[in-house]
Amino acid sequence: PDRVFSGVQPSGALHLGNYLGALKKFVDLQDEMECIYTIVDLHAITVWQDPKQLSKQTREIAAAFLASGVDPKKAIVYNQSAVRAHTELAWYFNCVARTGWVNRMTQFKDKAGKNAEKASVGLYTYPVLQAADILAFKGTHVPVGEDQKQHLELSRDIAAKFNHDFDVNFFPLPKPLIKGAGARVMSLRDGTSKMSKSDPSDNSRINLTDSADMISKKIRKAKTDGGLMPETMEEMEDRPEVKNLVGIYAALSERKDADIVKEYAGQGFGTFKPALADLAVETLAPITELMNRYLAAPDELDRILSNAADRASEIADPIVADVRRIIGFTGA
Ligand code: ATP
Ligand code: MG
Repeated sequence: PDRVFSGVQPSGALHLGNYLGALKKFVDLQDEMECIYTIVDLHAITVWQDPKQLSKQTREIAAAFLASGVDPKKAIVYNQSAVRAHTELAWYFNCVARTGWVNRMTQFKDKAGKNAEKASVGLYTYPVLQAADILAFKGTHVPVGEDQKQHLELSRDIAAKFNHDFDVNFFPLPKPLIKGAGARVMSLRDGTSKMSKSDPSDNSRINLTDSADMISKKIRKAKTDGGLMPETMEEMEDRPEVKNLVGIYAALSERKDADIVKEYAGQGFGTFKPALADLAVETLAPITELMNRYLAAPDELDRILSNAADRASEIADPIVADVRRIIGFTGA
């Protein structure tokens, strides 16, 4: 049967890219399919996380999910470390995946930077854990942003190799759902790198918790190329910063890029940017307000997460037990 799985790291405040590329899609899917959404704290610790911050950020992501409209009565929302199946299956998959496959992952190269020898082994093997996350539930559909496409391909390769090596038809090959507007929101400071929680510049992103003033200021300061708004879609092609702002406008208003280009053709950014800021505030202000309400009751949030973790374990434990038997462990 179809089953949706996706995760978000508690590695910092959520931004507009996470909202448009992931959360908004999570909400749309929960009425159509069985959905499992995880706050992937095991992924977050692949880079150093202060323990107090980690639990705070985990609750913030939970609050953001709920405030965006993820309904814990429909979807299962929990934090990854509370369900042991993730780490266990990740080990088995470490023995299925080939180092050559993992070496090709561009996100490791981006995140490890020049000093890869100093990166944790966890950061290196992160996409293998991600495959385990999805497949511990036999997830079939994975709503993610464009940046996760390569990792999803690795998940499919791991599932296929496991099935082939053990001559079973056990794991489905999970499909990415990367459709539509907002799948790749870029940094406000650099139109060629994606908006990220882990970008050291706070001005590079719009956080879900930013005030209206802060959002306006960040959009006003967003990098452009000094020209006017493009007159045609072709004219926008080699203007990454402009293309990004138009894309954000389109995703927020649920209209087409071409529509926005037509509306603002040839105008100055002095008109377009305030309109974009208003639109962003209109979307995010109600979410921020709700988030703060959830965060004011952390015990309630913890209870929702822990109930959901129990439900998640009920699904994943028998799947991982089957894996143990397939591998040939005795006493499985
Ligand atoms: P980090 O920098 O710590 O990796 P992140 O901003 O990349 O954080 P993740 O928690 O890794 O956020 O990703 C959560 C979800 O948000 C994933 O589905 C990912 O594809 C999506 N996502 C992340 N950044 C963007 C972006 N700029 N545009 C669209 N979707 C994004
Ligand atoms: Mg990321």
